[in-house]
Amino acid sequence: MISVEEALKKILSYVEVLEPERKPILDCLGQVLAEDVYSTIDIPPLDNSAMDGYALRAKDTRGAGESSPRYLAVVGEVAAGSMPTKEVRPGTAIRIMTGAPLPEGADAVVQFENTDEVNRKSSGGDLPQIGILCQAKKGLNVRGRGEDIARGNLILKKGKVLRPQEIGVLASLGRSTALVIRRPIVAILATGDELIGVDQPLAPGKIHDSNNYTIAAEVSRYGGIPKILGIGRDSVRSLTEKIDEGLDADMLITSGGVSKGDYDIVKDVLAEHGEVGFWTVCMKPGKPLAFGIIKKTEGGREKKLPHLGLPGNPVSSMITFEQFARPAILKMMGKKILVKPAIRAIIEDDVVDTDGRRLFARVSVTRRGGQYRASVTGPQGSGILTSMAKANGLAVIPENSKGVKAGDMVEVQMLDWGEEQGEVETLPIVSIVGKSQSGKTVLMEQLIAEFKRRGYKVAALKHSHGGMEIDHPGKDSWKFAQAGSDAVLVSSPDKLAFIKKLNHDLNIEEIMPIVGPEFDLVLAEGFRKSKTPKIEVHRKELGDDLLCSPEELSAIVTDGSLDTDRAQLPWGDTVAVADFIEKNFVLKARTVPSTPRGKRVR
Ligand code: AMP
Ligand code: MG
Repeated sequence: MISVEEALKKILSYVEVLEPERKPILDCLGQVLAEDVYSTIDIPPLDNSAMDGYALRAKDTRGAGESSPRYLAVVGEVAAGSMPTKEVRPGTAIRIMTGAPLPEGADAVVQFENTDEVNRKSSGGDLPQIGILCQAKKGLNVRGRGEDIARGNLILKKGKVLRPQEIGVLASLGRSTALVIRRPIVAILATGDELIGVDQPLAPGKIHDSNNYTIAAEVSRYGGIPKILGIGRDSVRSLTEKIDEGLDADMLITSGGVSKGDYDIVKDVLAEHGEVGFWTVCMKPGKPLAFGIIKKTEGGREKKLPHLGLPGNPVSSMITFEQFARPAILKMMGKKILVKPAIRAIIEDDVVDTDGRRLFARVSVTRRGGQYRASVTGPQGSGILTSMAKANGLAVIPENSKGVKAGDMVEVQMLDWGEEQGEVETLPIVSIVGKSQSGKTVLMEQLIAEFKRRGYKVAALKHSHGGMEIDHPGKDSWKFAQAGSDAVLVSSPDKLAFIKKLNHDLNIEEIMPIVGPEFDLVLAEGFRKSKTPKIEVHRKELGDDLLCSPEELSAIVTDGSLDTDRAQLPWGDTVAVADFIEKNFVLKARTVPSTPRGKRVR
């Protein structure tokens, strides 16, 4: 049996990022930009007005107020889309509309509401002069040229996933097309003698094929182009014919025929075309999974078509699709974040997991009292597709856990959350907690060194109850802080320090945005109240009790042995602790497995 992670790694190692294509921007939604986009223009192109009002010289409004209007001669008007024909000289103003270019000489715009125009308009007639009822500062209601986008700047970077706002930015730059990684064509084949099409009447022993539809919809949802090959019968000829029709695709996904009974046919057929692996994955539902490579020739060159053989049961095929096909499609599309958006939620039902496999339970997640709660959506048979229709998440019950009890915290993969949520890369964070004198700092030091040795980029975070002393009296930074600055940053060619005054203790989530995304792992010392994963250091000599309640902990590092179902790791065995953290947090958060470190599974 192989783990979900191992299966995914192998699959991903066989799929490649596809080549780019240039196409109209509106067709690029959700695709990855394959070029750096620089601006050849300033946006806005000219200084212009952010309000309907009067363009004037700020100086001329000195002393103006509700009861002391300053009168300026109105010398013209300018609407959006046209250029001013007059300039604003001292003592004059030009009526201006939002978006209209600021006339020469003007440096501010006072909106209608702060003039006497409304009162006086009601008495009819044009206004030869206007009363200004407030003092304007230079730049008031003026949008500066190039304020949004300055000419020559890099505006969208290669690798960016195009969302509606990026498509808008491209349009504002005057670009009608973009170079993006092309969408993969995914051939989809249902197999089974019992299957008939949706529009055929049911006959005894037959069922409508639903997998082709679920899978095609999933492929579209994640940005691929589905190519439904239809239904393959459980015969060598039928399967061969169908698979031949799908050879021009970028990936082939079949469903059914991978459970012990009828797999042989698919296996023979696929083996003839290439290589195939038949895996037992440590997950439920979805244990049997086939993955293979079909050799094909395209334009005289030999190419490889990855084939994913999903189980036939409708729920199993959808859940295995989510775990394996989705990341493969995203990788082909050039996306970097392949993990499914997940949250932590309180599970509201007991879930038993008897056979030690990772269980994906269909749940409905709601947010109540500031917390996510997940309740199981009825019978969990792998043929019960309606339980999937009722679900908006998959609770992940870890392997070898025997299950979870109502009230436990679980990780839930959100089925419908916007894919670009994943754009914000979440760093794996683990905090080392423990009683005072338990040896947290020693373990931190050893772990940092161990992860550095494994090639990771590590950030270490320390919680210090008693304040801290890192800013030395006499230094410039100290002088700035003494003078009252709320934050002091000191930057040198090889270090950055950031010292900010706080009025409350920050939690890890609030700190992380400052840390930045470039690290592989954040190790924190302390922060026992944080919701991030925690490992407690326990020492016999300090008593049998723990600082945290066991449910909150991912593991306990101890020099004794405790009566708890949490994972226990031996004190002194840094490698074991690092392995635990790497396996459960770092590699899980990791998206593309082609990283230089770690054991690579073949
Ligand atoms: P198999 O993996 O081929 O043994 O199929 C397992 C179960 O899933 C059987 O009950 C099949 O009838 C069912 N099944 C297989 N393919 C489909 C499909 N395309 N649509 C609906 N049910 C299917
Ligand atoms: Mg079958």
